[in-house]
Amino acid sequence: MAKRIQVVEKILSANDRLAKENQQRLDKAGVFGLNFMASPGAGKTSLIEHMIQRLSDQMELAVIDGDVATSIDADRAAAAGATAVQINTGGECHLDAVMLHGALDELDLESFDLLIVENVGNLICPMSFQLGTHRNILIASVPEGDDKPYKYPGMYRGVDALVINKIDLLPYVPFDMGYFRKGVEILNPGLITFPLSCRTGEGLEEWMNWIKDALREHSRTKEPSTEE
Ligand code: MG
Ligand code: ZN
Repeated sequence: MAKRIQVVEKILSANDRLAKENQQRLDKAGVFGLNFMASPGAGKTSLIEHMIQRLSDQMELAVIDGDVATSIDADRAAAAGATAVQINTGGECHLDAVMLHGALDELDLESFDLLIVENVGNLICPMSFQLGTHRNILIASVPEGDDKPYKYPGMYRGVDALVINKIDLLPYVPFDMGYFRKGVEILNPGLITFPLSCRTGEGLEEWMNWIKDALREHSRTKEPSTEE
């Protein structure tokens, strides 16, 4: 029997189309883009501060911060030494490709190697709006509880890497790592995971090494285009 290949034509939504355009802009400029998603208070900004401190001597970093109303996080990124752009979403609970498109206009992309986009703290919808970054990163944290993969499966299903922050609190809060990881494994088998603590520094080196490797790998496969 002939093998039937079903070709499902993906109809790109306006957001997906613009996300693609964003990625082309990043590729053309040779920028590796990360989308950081998490619930409020998981430690996105703290992790970004550590990355700026530990990676700035090896690469040029830019940060785009999505926030409902303030510029507190972008100010922290700037204080840590990165070029930071603030997007105030005016109440929107996620970033979308249009917002990122506008923020990219504010950056001289050619001069950066790594772009970190800090999404709005929210575990419901950010994953539904692709931005055009190269990797989607979810930052979970121990005090949130070990049931989050079960309660917010959509966020865990689509990400490329998972950080588990605040592991220094494991002795003090009820968090069953086995139960948490089992939930993650069901939704996203083999997902690369980085347990760490932004407070004590434990696990940060592994995370930085993964970022450096991913950046190196990316620039090997996506050499900035010389066409056009
Ligand atoms: Mg933050
Ligand atoms: Zn939303």
